[in-house]
Amino acid sequence: MTKGFVSLVGAGPGDPGLISVKGLRLLRSADVIVYDRLVDKRLLSDARADADLTDVGKIPGKLINRQEDINNLLVGLGKSGKRVVRLKGGDPFVFGRGGEEAEALAAAGVSFEIVPGITSAIAAPAYAGIPLTHRKLASSFTVVTGSEDPTKSDSAVDWQALAKVSDTLVILMGQSNLRSIVEALMRHGRSASTPVALVQWGTEPYQRTLVATLSDVVERAAAMGIAAPAVTIVGEVARLRDTIRWFDNRPLFGKRVLVTRTRTQAGALSEMLTQRGAQPIELPTIEIQQIDDRGELDKALKSVYHYDWIVFTSTNAVDVVFRRMAALELDARALHGVQIAAIGPATKRRIRDKGIIADFTPSTFVAESVADELSALGMDGRRVLLPQAELARDVLRTGLAKQGAVVDAIAVYRTVTPQNTAERLRHILSQGIDLATFTSSSTVTNLVELLGGNTDGLKDATIACIGPVTAERAVELGLKVDVMATQHTIAGLMEAVESHFKEAGQNE
Ligand code: SAH
Repeated sequence: MTKGFVSLVGAGPGDPGLISVKGLRLLRSADVIVYDRLVDKRLLSDARADADLTDVGKIPGKLINRQEDINNLLVGLGKSGKRVVRLKGGDPFVFGRGGEEAEALAAAGVSFEIVPGITSAIAAPAYAGIPLTHRKLASSFTVVTGSEDPTKSDSAVDWQALAKVSDTLVILMGQSNLRSIVEALMRHGRSASTPVALVQWGTEPYQRTLVATLSDVVERAAAMGIAAPAVTIVGEVARLRDTIRWFDNRPLFGKRVLVTRTRTQAGALSEMLTQRGAQPIELPTIEIQQIDDRGELDKALKSVYHYDWIVFTSTNAVDVVFRRMAALELDARALHGVQIAAIGPATKRRIRDKGIIADFTPSTFVAESVADELSALGMDGRRVLLPQAELARDVLRTGLAKQGAVVDAIAVYRTVTPQNTAERLRHILSQGIDLATFTSSSTVTNLVELLGGNTDGLKDATIACIGPVTAERAVELGLKVDVMATQHTIAGLMEAVESHFKEAGQNE
């Protein structure tokens, strides 16, 4: 039996990109992951599919899981020989009771390690545009818990001393005692005009920030409804947000965006949305299923040298064809002498990943252009292999045939709707979305089908389509299209969406 090992890993403050490389590596290989309420759930998608995930989240004030139970759980798992990741919000040793967990492991003789994390004490201010130190404004910062009421005589925090330091004060867990903390600081000499910033859900796409002063922060925080989890920053540095603010003023900041692509394709779009501050909500409405009866494709591939052209109309087709070639023990050399066309840049890139430079891409990325522009190369009598989706539009095959090409159109994959999707979609729409993105007409068709034809849930959302064919389908199915990309790519779609919201912002 392998020896158990517990890694106390800091997950960082929220933004999943802020976990350390070491932490992520451990997360990906762990047998068991024991995580807290404040850990961003997106990180858990990096766990092994068969990993055991345990939520020991403590709702503040409710002792659902006592610390002692958590300690015992970790010791038990460690002793059972498992590779355990204890994933804790921020840094495990900053107010996370990680110290107590490590003590329990040490006492029980279970091996463990500590992987530090980026604490919310520095990350929330950073994402709000507030440097904790500054050559002219603050030469130190103090991180303190606000969980104890300062009016209590036995408080472990010396607020009187803290009020005397004119540098930066960072308070965690201070939301419920904010009024007494602020009063204690002023009573002990900190000026009422001292700037104070509150950062709620720091580093998340729903981060909210308030900059006020000691004298009015309590009222203004109440008016905004700022609650835990929030970090409080007291000191002159809070003023710098005015000039350094960078995160929550991004073009799509805070927008909830419905991303409807296949699970494997959603990544790139979500990544671009995240970079612009949006909150992508992925609803895979399409799952790619390789068509099992591959007799036709196999036959074509075994004598692929008969063809003059292979025309790829999607990355899915590229994947299926090359997977099938590998199964037939054929590599890229089998395609020598065959010209390759790609419908757009993503397909071209996927082909290049397979070691082949495409000979042709059209100037606009729709099937009609492929047929039209290929005609310039003389398609009469040419043999063309067209691996495509089942039920694909017929324009390309007929367009090429009209020019005298002999086209073998083979259905190599089909798109199906994953299970539980309708339920998930209803839930997402009930929480409201700002923007829905459609990257092909089938994503529109599938979505509207999931809604049973009733598009009311989308009527307040901005609808963005990758191109005219997709937009047309959307209008047919009763959606109003607000944004259409001029470049029919994911990047083009992003650009169009961004300028749409920029204009909307200017008109407000
Ligand atoms: N170990 C954690 C802190 C745990 S105590 C760390 O290093 O960040 C919990 C407190 O952390 C919350 O009450 C809040 O004050 C702060 N906190 C954690 N995540 C936060 C976030 N994303 N934004 C603002 N405050 C956060």
